[in-house]
Amino acid sequence: MNNLKLPVTIDPYKSAQRRLVVEGYFEISRLERLLGEAEKLAEHVDVVINFDVDEQGLIVLSGEASTRVYLTCQRCNEPFEHELKVSFAFSPVKNEEKADELPEHYDAVVLDENGEVNLRDLVEDELLVSIPLIPKHNLEDCGQQADSTWGKLPDTLEKPNPFDVLKNLK
Ligand SMILES: [Zn+2]
Repeated sequence: MNNLKLPVTIDPYKSAQRRLVVEGYFEISRLERLLGEAEKLAEHVDVVINFDVDEQGLIVLSGEASTRVYLTCQRCNEPFEHELKVSFAFSPVKNEEKADELPEHYDAVVLDENGEVNLRDLVEDELLVSIPLIPKHNLEDCGQQADSTWGKLPDTLEKPNPFDVLKNLK
């Protein structure tokens, strides 16, 4: 665990030229959007970000972030502990139109008016997206018995329908 509190914003160009690695944390109490979706369990979001220039000359911010939160189980309504862990690779762009020009293995992050990237927003966005759509206990930990069929519904929805493949063949 690293005890360095990270800067909220950073100049990605200067950082990439220096091949900077930032390692530290954001206080989870400052991530208000995240706390709108989850209760805090850990005090910190641990973050590592590498700044680099790739072979195409693009600036790249890649790294990982993790924290622990309480989510509310949608099957039994009890809170449970959940680790949010994300990895990412961003390239900064001046505006949304420029984002379309990026190779698809990078996500775009739009620079602010000072030409900086808001690292805290970037990390918070990633953590928000990683929250399960319908949070649930593992079955063996859940107070609610597994026979409530609606609890199984999301798994079913994610499975591709084998008949769709047949339709495409026709
Ligand atoms: Zn549960």
